[in-house]
Amino acid sequence: MIDLLAYLPSKRKQTASGWISVNAPCCVHNGESADRRQRGGLKISEQGWSWHCFNCQFTASFVQGRNLTFKARKLLTWLNVPPEEIERINLESLRHRSVHGILDDRQRTANAVQNIQFEDRELPEGFIIVDQHTPVHWQYLRERCIPQDYPMGMVGGRPNAKWQPRPGIIVPFTYEARIVGHTTRYLDNKSPKYIHDIQPGYVFGADLQRPDWQHVLVMEGVFDALSISGLAVLHADISDAQARLIRSLGREITVVPDQDTAGVKLIDRAVELGWAVSMPEWPPEMKDVNDAVKQYGRLATLIHIMQARETSKIKIELRRKQLAKRL
Ligand SMILES: [Zn+2]
Repeated sequence: MIDLLAYLPSKRKQTASGWISVNAPCCVHNGESADRRQRGGLKISEQGWSWHCFNCQFTASFVQGRNLTFKARKLLTWLNVPPEEIERINLESLRHRSVHGILDDRQRTANAVQNIQFEDRELPEGFIIVDQHTPVHWQYLRERCIPQDYPMGMVGGRPNAKWQPRPGIIVPFTYEARIVGHTTRYLDNKSPKYIHDIQPGYVFGADLQRPDWQHVLVMEGVFDALSISGLAVLHADISDAQARLIRSLGREITVVPDQDTAGVKLIDRAVELGWAVSMPEWPPEMKDVNDAVKQYGRLATLIHIMQARETSKIKIELRRKQLAKRL
């Protein structure tokens, strides 16, 4: 593993969600002024690390067992790592090429062939990561049982400035660890409640799936997906491109509809696609998976979903009728 920490500036700050903030070395190379507000973020995981600069928006990531990417090499160069050291790091990484690395490479090839790709997008200006220092947003995410290891954001306001941003949670959309869009969920009661930057065919949550999981759950909302590590199709339909992406994950697919009219629409589409549907017998006031997680916890909710998983079209149709009647 590259010990990237050894190359980073020694002045650092760590957030509860595991991001290490330093003055970013990338900005001056990307037409921005030098970062003096520690807006470079590094997150280290078991498999590698990812870098996100909240000043110039430069991103890079590294996965143990893979070749260093073009952007990861750039970042190392900007951190003054000598070229021969970068080559040594690359060879060292390839020595650890794992089964997962090979499987991932195959997945990438399959994705390229099926034309599942998204362009890099920028997060809103002023994006910062939500942590305990932003209590309103932090509290909201805790109440909705959103795991702390996902980098949720917000737009910070300047103290005493006349204009303040609307309070809202920004969920970065990623695909293969690159930022490809986002959604903002506003916390005031004004409209619109959501603003999205979504590319056609995008499905949220592919990056939340672990290599050894056999099942994947498909829901409508991004907070539902986050609270149970599933996928979100982000509206009450599943487009053909989205279906291709979901199938490309190679898992057993189960759609978990919301208990509302949009949910009924999602059930019809799931049946059309030949996918399983799960409608656990939750009380009517429990509208979606996130409500269930808040009430029962993540594990019990997962068990309810797997127990109610239905593949028979007739049985799905029966449950659909029960739901439609109640609405
Ligand atoms: Zn930067």
